[in-house]
Order: sequence, then C-alpha cells, then structure tokens
Amino acid sequence: MKADTFNHLSARRWACHGRLSPQVSLRRNRPEQRTLRTVEAYSPLMSKTIILGAGLAGLSAARQLQAHGHSVEIIDKGRGVGGRLATRRIGEARLDHGAQFFTTRGAVFTETIAQALDAGAVAEWCRGFAEQDGYPRYRGAHGMTSLAKWLAVDVPMKLGVEVDRIEMSKGQVSFVGKDDVTIAQAPLAIVTAPIPQMLNLFDRGNVQPDLDLDTMLRATRYFATLALLAVVDGPPNIDEPGAMQFSNGPFTFIADNERKGISPVRALTFHAEHDYSLRRFDDDPEQVRAELLEQAAPWIGDATVLESQLKKWRYAGPVTPLPKPTYVIESDGARLALAGDAFAGPKVEGAFNSGHAAALELL
Ligand SMILES: Cc1cc2nc3c(=O)[nH]c(=O)nc-3n(C[C@H](O)[C@H](O)[C@H](O)COP(=O)(O)OP(=O)(O)OC[C@H]3O[C@@H](n4cnc5c(N)ncnc54)[C@H](O)[C@@H]3O)c2cc1C
Repeated sequence: MKADTFNHLSARRWACHGRLSPQVSLRRNRPEQRTLRTVEAYSPLMSKTIILGAGLAGLSAARQLQAHGHSVEIIDKGRGVGGRLATRRIGEARLDHGAQFFTTRGAVFTETIAQALDAGAVAEWCRGFAEQDGYPRYRGAHGMTSLAKWLAVDVPMKLGVEVDRIEMSKGQVSFVGKDDVTIAQAPLAIVTAPIPQMLNLFDRGNVQPDLDLDTMLRATRYFATLALLAVVDGPPNIDEPGAMQFSNGPFTFIADNERKGISPVRALTFHAEHDYSLRRFDDDPEQVRAELLEQAAPWIGDATVLESQLKKWRYAGPVTPLPKPTYVIESDGARLALAGDAFAGPKVEGAFNSGHAAALELL
C-alpha cells in the first residue's frame, strides 16, 4: 500500500460489530463494501473483546486479538485515532504536537514497523539529533498519526464516544456513557486510558483492582507537557536534522516539521520542560502562549510567526512505569486487562508492547 492510500481511509467513523474473517476482509479502496461485509462476516463463535482507547496500546491489542480470531471493537472519545500520536493542521502546515518520533528495540514492534515502512506509513527521519548513534528514529509518513491510521485499518471502532464508567457484572464488562447508556459490552475488555483517567472510570463504575494493584495505580504520577505550535515564514535556527533535544532549558524538544518531512510549509513544535508545563498548566492559555513564544525567540530567529497555538498534555507520560506490561482484573466471570505506556515504558514502543501483552493475556 502506498503512503497516500491509507490516508483517506484513516479512522473508521462508523460502528461495526464482529471481526472480519480473512475470506471477507475489507477491501481498503471500496468503502461501499464495508457495511455489507461487516454484517455478513460476524460469527457468534468468535470471542469478543472491547477496547477503550485508539492509541498505540489499544490498536496494538486489537490487531493481536484479530490475528487470533477475536472480534474486537475500540471505543475512543477522540475524533481520530492515535491518542498521544497527534498531528494537527494549521492552514497548510502540518505539525506533530504529541510524540515526535519513535525507535524500535523489541522483535514484535520492529517487525510491525518493518511492515509499516513497506506500506509507506512510516519513514526513517534520522539516526540521532545532536549526535549520530546509528539507531533509526522514525516518523509517520504524514505525521505521527500515520502510524496509528495504518494500524487502525480493518479495526472496527466508535470514535468521538466518551466512556463515563466501567462496570463488571454477570460475566460482562460494560463501557457506559454519561447518559447511562451501555456503549459496548463483552466478557473481555482492555482499558488503555492514562492511569488517573482509568481510575476515574473504575471509581465511577464498580471495578476494584486488588489492594496491591490499586495502591500501585494510585501512586502513578505523570509529567505534563505544554506544546507551542508556530507557523513561520522563514528558516528557523534549528540544527540538522530539523530537531533539537535538550536536558536543560525552557524546552525539551524543538522540531521543524518542514525539515522533518511532514509539512509543506515551515512549522515548528516546541515542547516546554516538565516543571514549567506543570506549573503553568491551568493558567491563562493566551498568556502562556505569549510567554512560550518569547522563550522560543532564539530558535525562531528572524522568521515572523504567522500563527501560533498552545496544546496541552496533562498526562504526557508516566514518571515511573509499573513493573509489568499488563495486569488483568477478574470479577464475576468477566476479565479486564489494563494497558498503556504506563505499563511497558513511557514511549510509543512501550504502549505498543503493553497492548500486545494485554491481548495475549486475554487469549
Ligand atoms: C508531548 C509528548 C511527546 C512525546 N514524545 C514521544 C517521543 O518523541 N517518542 C516516543 O516514543 N514517545 C513519546 N511520547 C509518548 C507516547 O506518545 C506515548 O507513550 C504513547 O503514544 C501512549 O499510547 P497509549 O496508547 O498508551 O495512550 P494514548 O495514546 O493516550 O491512548 C489512550 C486513548 O484513550 C482514549 N480515552 C481516554 N479516556 C477515554 C474515555 N473516557 N472514553 C473514551 N476514550 C478515552 C484517549 O482519547 C486516547 O486516544 C510523547 C507523548 C507526549 C504527550
């Protein structure tokens, strides 16, 4: 599949139930066949798993379960897939404002990314920022969401649907909305929201992790990140390969999305350092945006800022990940696996591995 083929397919904005068997799998370029084939493909013999979250953990879990013949359905409150793999358009500009790049270390993720490279969904960006260390840093073909969109092809999902609470009873896990309507229900489920959001879903519902797990979950802290996005009209002061990483200073990462290869026009991403991000998180966004623009001046250089925006990530990443890639809660005959980057490492690959591990636990 070529890079531009998956782009328009992106997330499925319709709800469909039941896994598509290999014989009747979706024809990617013929949308008119999707509904018909979805209905006829459902088999009551397939185990169903519902998944909260269309980020890397949820998508990885869905693909693994599908590969083993499970029917899956993802529910996500976002309008698109990817979660913290987030790409935003400002006019013609395209900017990554969540994760900026990823590496591959383990066999499963490396193999998946090899397929994504073949499909044109991802590309190698560079082999290091200030120094070349030989390890490829990958980016999405059209921004980081390209990877999520590619993983999401053929995964049934409901987008733009917020789950208010999770309940476990009579052999079923239920994702329930604010209006008390059950959004999805199955004997098996995976939840991949950041842990503080996960705990709210449990507390509003009736999910009770055992004491040790509950204590670990409630002790998990996240760092926040404020992202300044700026469209500019001239070359910025950013070193090759169009990005700089810092351990000190006002920013942790600065990227020129044009030189990264995802934006047709000059557009910069600045990630504010963690202490500043936490301290200013709930302050007036206009003031914070203006302050960050001042701090970004040395890297913006002589260019004029045509437009700028502030994007906030309250749960950017876990400070200390939990010791296991997944945990399973069993109650009243139902099973709920917990996954996400807080379980297998605070990175794209960690999220992917955690989703994979959660799927294997439920098989
Ligand atoms: C600013 C920033 C920079 C980063 N930089 C990098 C980097 O350069 N390299 C790297 O490897 N990693 C980076 N990361 C980390 C990486 O993005 C994450 O580790 C990974 O994307 C997490 O995936 P996940 O599936 O665990 O969670 P998420 O992507 O957060 O997915 C969880 C999903 O659950 C959904 N959800 C939550 N609550 C509900 C609800 N109640 N109802 C319905 N849906 C719900 C959310 O909408 C979301 O889509 C960065 C993250 C941030 C924020």
